Amino acid sequence: MKVRLEDIPPEGLEVEFSDHRARPRDLGEVVTEITSVPWARLRLEKQGEQVLARGEYRAGVRLVCSRCLQPGQAELSGALELIFSPPQTPAAEEVRLGGEEMDLVFFEGDELDLAQALRDEIGLNLPMAPLCRAECAGLCPVCGRDLNQGRCDCRRDQVDPRWAKLAKLEIKK
Ligand SMILES: [Zn+2]
Ligand SMILES: [Zn+2]
Repeated sequence: MKVRLEDIPPEGLEVEFSDHRARPRDLGEVVTEITSVPWARLRLEKQGEQVLARGEYRAGVRLVCSRCLQPGQAELSGALELIFSPPQTPAAEEVRLGGEEMDLVFFEGDELDLAQALRDEIGLNLPMAPLCRAECAGLCPVCGRDLNQGRCDCRRDQVDPRWAKLAKLEIKK
């Protein structure tokens, strides 16, 4: 989804789109599948050389659980506030230094790539340590078994005798 600057009238432009071309990797390295196509509705308003984009977005993805490495589901949605700006303008610098809530997106030429901006935004909003479910038991650190599928016989407090001495050391701060 791209919008040309000249197509945004002074009173602003309402756009709604679904990004059917997005591939999992476009959204993030941990994403294995797109379950709900990225969607956004935005109101675009020109402000000098910049364009303000405000609205909302939704997407659903499957990603790798950080504990058990099985796929987990994540639903993303929320408000979207972007400022499209030509690079290196005083106004862009102001936004960056002002620490505003809105995310700065640089563009060159005469069109805005809304689909790409949405992909980047989704990537930023993915959970840092995704879980397949809140109570995921993870993998056994000894045998690697998925503990969600049952317990193993490993004693996880077991320490290799060669490391026993180290285990007794206390860390003093
Ligand atoms: Zn898990
Ligand atoms: Zn085990």
